[in-house]
Amino acid sequence: MLRLEGLTVTPLTDLPRFDIALGTLLPGADPAALAGLGWLGPDALSGGMVHLVIRSWLIRMPGVKILVDACVGAGKDRPLRPEWHRRDGTAFLAALAAEGLEPDDIDIVFCTHLHADHVGWNTRLEGGRWVPTFRRARHLVGRREYLHWQAAARADPAAGHGSFADSVLPVMAAGLMELVGPGFSPAPGLRLDAAPGHSPGHMVLHVDHGAGAVLCGDVLHSPVQLARPDWSSAFCSDPARARRTRRALLAAVAARGGHLVPAHFPDPGWCRIRADGAGFRPV
Ligand SMILES: [Zn+2]
Repeated sequence: MLRLEGLTVTPLTDLPRFDIALGTLLPGADPAALAGLGWLGPDALSGGMVHLVIRSWLIRMPGVKILVDACVGAGKDRPLRPEWHRRDGTAFLAALAAEGLEPDDIDIVFCTHLHADHVGWNTRLEGGRWVPTFRRARHLVGRREYLHWQAAARADPAAGHGSFADSVLPVMAAGLMELVGPGFSPAPGLRLDAAPGHSPGHMVLHVDHGAGAVLCGDVLHSPVQLARPDWSSAFCSDPARARRTRRALLAAVAARGGHLVPAHFPDPGWCRIRADGAGFRPV
């Protein structure tokens, strides 16, 4: 658990390990360019495979419980990703219960973007229908991101593994979704900002408490990209834009000395960073 002044940030893991080949995740990545990075451990990269974790972050502050990102979920049809396809996935709700919480205790859900591994637990199957899991929560989604995926799903229902239909629309239909833009503040000391490139309307959450933190979703996926911030992922809609966003965010976090809290880093899931050569490294 990450403790900042007046709040805590706790990981809730859905998939403890999701492996993907270095060259598949980061096209053109040259393994030789990572040689000699003693801090880059086998928990992040081994045997040519990048090891990711798929998790949410639970922010607890007085009177407010916020879930950042909603992972893969259970029972979703994801035939192109066997690890995500029709999962039973009970570990996520068990992790929430271990925090002493039920889904109805969550006040706010913020999805950094609308990829299938960030919206899954927004809904669950009940009586053959997808219904909101977090029935009392305001679900904050970037307006630009929502409009992008709404259009993509209309053009091709299979876009984004079909997650707009099963994990986003039911929340909107229930009146629980609020489309927001940069500068929106979900709670005191918390602020959303645009971070486009991985997806068109990707947003991050700045936490201005204590040393500070940025919950930055998929601005970067792996510690590999600390060392090589110019390597964008195969899943970035605009790799050049993603590179600029990544570099600017990492430089800002290093300058402030706050915590970087991405969605998919190995345990504990966050780090502080400093500039190192052409890139960055954890401190
Ligand atoms: Zn992701």
